[in-house]
Amino acid sequence: MSKKDLFMASLLGGAIGDALGYTVEFMKLDEIKAKFGEEGITDLEVNPYSGKAPISDDTQMTLFTADGLIWAYDRMSERGIGSYAGSGVYQSYLRWLYTQTKSLPDEHYDWLLDPQPHEENGSILAHRELFSARAPGNTCLSALESNKMGTIEGPINDSKGCGGVMRVAPVGLFLHRDPEQAFRVAAEVAAITHGHPSGYLAAGALAVIIAELLNGKSIAESAKSAMAILKEYPKHEETLSAMENAIELVGSDEDPVDAITKLGQGWVAEEALAISLYCALKETDFKQALILAVNHDGDSDSTGGICGNILGASYGLEAIPEEWAKQVELKELIADVTSRLYDRYIKM
Ligand SMILES: [Mg+2]
Repeated sequence: MSKKDLFMASLLGGAIGDALGYTVEFMKLDEIKAKFGEEGITDLEVNPYSGKAPISDDTQMTLFTADGLIWAYDRMSERGIGSYAGSGVYQSYLRWLYTQTKSLPDEHYDWLLDPQPHEENGSILAHRELFSARAPGNTCLSALESNKMGTIEGPINDSKGCGGVMRVAPVGLFLHRDPEQAFRVAAEVAAITHGHPSGYLAAGALAVIIAELLNGKSIAESAKSAMAILKEYPKHEETLSAMENAIELVGSDEDPVDAITKLGQGWVAEEALAISLYCALKETDFKQALILAVNHDGDSDSTGGICGNILGASYGLEAIPEEWAKQVELKELIADVTSRLYDRYIKM
């Protein structure tokens, strides 16, 4: 399996899980079953007008993360100074803010709307689908509207919503050669909008899981490596215990639906990570794992998306059902962003 295929599979898998879960994001499990039957939702819902299964803010922001990393990499290579979070990802998230609100926090940012040199195949903002409002997270919107960039040292709020962790898979892909760096950068990228330690440390942990999968480790080994790095950070206890609980439940004979209920609902970062990790470890089939990851009372698109990121990085493109790959919205943009990200990874 080529690394380029794993990059694509992780982002495409995430988009598919997000699309599957988006249909039932705000539904309780009994409501999902009442609408879709005892098995819950098991297939993508295709919009009859577009012929595509809509992705949500999770995948939209993941694409802006990937584009921001490319942007930052090019600028840092040129100037020899900067950080991924501050030299590209923050600016990219302001562009995401613009897609959702049609405004930027300050007029000196207007240049961000112009095509940039790193967008060699055309601007990401030319994709009108990205302007669709798909239940964008309030924390992300308000943090970016504040005109201040949150950092780990200077937290912008006390939020640990899952809006940080759900968008950082590209960091793990891009920086997989150095899992410690992947952790730090993903945590910094999440801290732009989420200031609670669990909000950004869960993001760091996910990036390491993705990174280690690219390095050839199993999902269980990757999670262990993530927990080892996580322990080096202050205030890691909540995220660590969520991950430990997920792993313990995988080894138990607890019914999967009850296990997910024990792990929470996924609206907060450490729970979203724990549920996604549990599903990816419990079910080794791509489709079955995603079905498990979205059929519960909680934040189905985020747990579906994160689980899809992990499954894709683990099993590659061949595990992804062809029909789903064809139906998911913005597949061409995912492929373009992936290939530009991969080009920089090769150059690095
Ligand atoms: Mg969403």
